Amino acid sequence: MSIEKVRENVYAITDGSTRGNVTAYVLPTQIVFVDSGMHIPMIKKFREHIEQETSKKASILFITHEHGDHVFGNQIFEDCEIITSDHTNEAMIHSKENNWTPENLEEWKKNAEDPSSLDGLKIVMANKTFADEYEIIDGDVKVIIKRTGGHTEGSSYVYCPNYKVMFAGDNLFNHSFPWGGTPTSDPVKWIKAIEEYLSLDVEHYIPGHGAISDKEPLEEFLAYLEKVTDLMKNLISEGKSEEEILEEADKVDYYPPRREGWKALTLKKWYDVVLN
Ligand SMILES: [Zn+2]
Repeated sequence: MSIEKVRENVYAITDGSTRGNVTAYVLPTQIVFVDSGMHIPMIKKFREHIEQETSKKASILFITHEHGDHVFGNQIFEDCEIITSDHTNEAMIHSKENNWTPENLEEWKKNAEDPSSLDGLKIVMANKTFADEYEIIDGDVKVIIKRTGGHTEGSSYVYCPNYKVMFAGDNLFNHSFPWGGTPTSDPVKWIKAIEEYLSLDVEHYIPGHGAISDKEPLEEFLAYLEKVTDLMKNLISEGKSEEEILEEADKVDYYPPRREGWKALTLKKWYDVVLN
C-alpha cells in the first residue's frame, strides 16, 4: 500500500491495494475521507497515518456508491458521520439484504487477492443521506458532493474547489473500460456527469480505479461514450437488430476492461438505456 500526497491537504491510495481508490481531504479542523475500499487493515492504517501526520481527526466518510470495493472498509469509520446519497443508501440496503449474505461474504473472502483483507468484516451502513447535493464548509474551505448518476444511479463526486481536486468514484476508470453493467447504469447521465467534471476547476481527478490524472482521460472517455451511444442511436433508427448493434458497438476502439466479461455486459446495458 502506498499513500500518495496528491497535493497539500489531499491524500489518496490508488495503487489497487485497497481495490477501490480512497481519498482523504484534510480541512482546517477535520479530515473527510471518501470511500473505504475493500481492505480493512489497510484502511485502518490509512486513517491512522493521516490522523497522525495532520494531528486532526476523521469526522466524515463519504461513500460515492454502493459497490463492495468502495464500502467494505466502512467499519473503520463507525465513529464518524457516514454520508451517501439516498439512492446509494437504498442500493446498500438492498445489497445487504440480498447479496451481502454471510455465505456470499465467505465466498468473497476466499477469493480475495489477500485473504486477510476482509477478516472481521462487519457491514456498516451510512448514517446520513442527501438527495442530490451536500456541502461541507470548514473555515474557508468548501467540499461539494453531488449526485450525477452514470455508473450507478446514486454515483456522486466529491469536489474541493479550494484544493482543485475531485474524487470521481467509478464514473471514472482511468484508461480502462468501465463497469457499466449494473441495473442503474446510464450512459446518458454518465456523459452529462463527465461534461460537468470537465467544466469544473480541477487539477487532479481521482478515479474509482486507476491513477490520478488531469483532464485527458476524461476527454478520451467522453469521446468514446458519445461515439458508442451515437452509433447505437443511429443503428436503432436504421432498424438494425440488437445483435448487429452490439457487434458494431464492440468494434469501437477503447481500452480493455479490468475484468473479462465487463465489456459485453456494459454495452448491453447501455443499449437497453439508449433503446428506451
Ligand atoms: Zn463501482
